[in-house]
Amino acid sequence: MPGQTARRDGPEGRARYTHAMRVGQGFDAHAFAEGRPLMLGGVEVPHARGLAGHSDGDALLHALIDALLGAAGLGDIGGMFPPSDERWRGAASLDLLAAVLRRVRAAGFRVVNVDATVVAEAPRLAAHVDTMRARIASALEVEVGAVSVKPKTSDGLGFTGRGEGIAAFAAVLLE
Ligand SMILES: [Zn+2]
Repeated sequence: MPGQTARRDGPEGRARYTHAMRVGQGFDAHAFAEGRPLMLGGVEVPHARGLAGHSDGDALLHALIDALLGAAGLGDIGGMFPPSDERWRGAASLDLLAAVLRRVRAAGFRVVNVDATVVAEAPRLAAHVDTMRARIASALEVEVGAVSVKPKTSDGLGFTGRGEGIAAFAAVLLE
């Protein structure tokens, strides 16, 4: 049962623990591009430019997807949604996240909590954080209190500081 830890002896005689807590982390970054809406955390944030990408370019949800897949030992976003596959062109990343949740569930896990950081010099994201948390929580079928999104700047440093793009980091706990 998910959430229970069972000790079994592996083929080499080492103890194996199944259905224990599993941690995962993910990272993503996308460059700004003209003529696209800015999608972050499943929310369209008003801004002059959006993020380039095969799907809607939602770097926050992509980092979260990689964290979920990593925690479950299911590979990564590029393996599950190959950029060469036309099905994912312009895809809503919230739909990709829901598909990943189904895979994670099928592997016997449930989401305990999510903690994410979005690095953007502009736009300011604080006013959108609660909507992002609600959309992510809905897609993951968890309480809003289990989802944390923290906007940061990089103090003017690097590609995020120069306003060339947005980066995101996510950590996930499964049981
Ligand atoms: Zn991405």
